[in-house]
Amino acid sequence: MAEFKADVLVLGAGMVGVSAALHLQQRGRDVILVDRHELAGEETSFGNAGIIESASVFPLMFPRDFGLILQYALNRSPHVRYSLSDLPTSLPWLLRYFLASSPERALHSAMAELPLIQRSLLEHEALMAEAGVPDLLRRTGWIKLFRSDATLANGVRDFERARQYGVAGEVLDGKAIMAREPNLTGEFAGAVYYPAPGFVPDPGALAKAYAALFTRKGGRFLVGDARTLEQGDGRWRVSGPEGGASAREIVVALGPWSDLVFRPLGYSIPLGVKRGYHLHLAPRGNAVLSHPVLDSDLGYLLAPMNRGIRLTTGVEFARRDAPPNPIQIEQALPRAHALFPLGEAVDAKPWKGARPCLPDMVPVIGKAPRHAGLWFDFGHQHHGLTLGPATGRLLAEMMTGETPFADPTPFAAARFG
Ligand SMILES: Cc1cc2nc3c(=O)[nH]c(=O)nc-3n(C[C@H](O)[C@H](O)[C@H](O)COP(=O)(O)OP(=O)(O)OC[C@H]3O[C@@H](n4cnc5c(N)ncnc54)[C@H](O)[C@@H]3O)c2cc1C
Repeated sequence: MAEFKADVLVLGAGMVGVSAALHLQQRGRDVILVDRHELAGEETSFGNAGIIESASVFPLMFPRDFGLILQYALNRSPHVRYSLSDLPTSLPWLLRYFLASSPERALHSAMAELPLIQRSLLEHEALMAEAGVPDLLRRTGWIKLFRSDATLANGVRDFERARQYGVAGEVLDGKAIMAREPNLTGEFAGAVYYPAPGFVPDPGALAKAYAALFTRKGGRFLVGDARTLEQGDGRWRVSGPEGGASAREIVVALGPWSDLVFRPLGYSIPLGVKRGYHLHLAPRGNAVLSHPVLDSDLGYLLAPMNRGIRLTTGVEFARRDAPPNPIQIEQALPRAHALFPLGEAVDAKPWKGARPCLPDMVPVIGKAPRHAGLWFDFGHQHHGLTLGPATGRLLAEMMTGETPFADPTPFAAARFG
């Protein structure tokens, strides 16, 4: 069996791990990227809605509006569902999420992430140029539709708030919506159009292109299982079917599976998941969708991917590994068919994934408090495609002793005690 040595092992080849590996490599580190799959970007980083959310300054927090909370509690919201049988497991985390969502704490989370959000598109552009995949970035922005005057007013208020931090946007009336997306049908109170965010029509291919750039530049990829991690003689070692790999430093970038490593090492970081689904459908006839469109009141999004129109759902609170429950896709399908001319499903069954989330919606990035050479980079919640490259830079700067471009303090694992 082969035995490989490097300066750093990065565990997890999703958008977050691949981006960290590239940034470490740029700074002269010899890196081995380890994943249980043979290819990068096969999990959460494959299935997302493809938006580089450079306009999403405020993370999605637990609502404080009583009416909304009641809808959630009754499991009647199209945005959020919970599994009743998993509720005892989810409840303590949901309580922490609720507490972290007070206006002051939510603002703190947003301000911590702001430098990363503002840098997100720039960082992708640089990597896409180097990887030679400019066609994986569409400069379409995205549209948030509202069906009632009340929700439109909330949406416009959110936009006005984000505008204070440099976010560009445009409020659209029915005519302006039709001008942008002539194939939509429905009664809309209006929409907010965010022109700046990028759209990636194949997020899995983007993670693979970044991984290909990493190996082209001399990086190595090992199929291995993070659960085999052991520490000895100042080195960390993992193994897989092709052999083992060891390094003095290790980065945990396992997204929703990061607890497989940090928990056995004694860290009780409250990593939870917000599960989500997608299904591709063929557009009917010559119908074209030019932007990702969030049908905000009805809780689903349509995105014009290379494979077809990708319908993505809102949030499901259930155990990461619990069997899929396609009810959110089933509920969204007739609404989506009414919004846009959709034909047959392209996929045999819906895809299920899990957004890795900390209760304050801020990822954990930085040194592990109690183990030399152990670094964390996970919990990118709804924004992992967006933030992968920016957080990869931040982590690599911390690991190589450069001055970090953003204050890393709010990302420390130590905030959880
Ligand atoms: C429906 C949905 C829509 C979304 N839309 C967007 C969006 O529009 N924009 C956006 O920015 N974000 C979006 N997100 C969030 C985004 O997809 C995630 O935050 C992001 O993909 C997390 O990336 P990651 O690299 O941390 O995790 P992952 O991509 O899941 O990568 C983790 C890696 O760890 C590997 N792994 C797991 N266990 C082991 C093991 N034991 N040994 C070795 N390797 C292992 C996995 O194989 C995987 O490759 C969405 C998410 C969902 C679910």
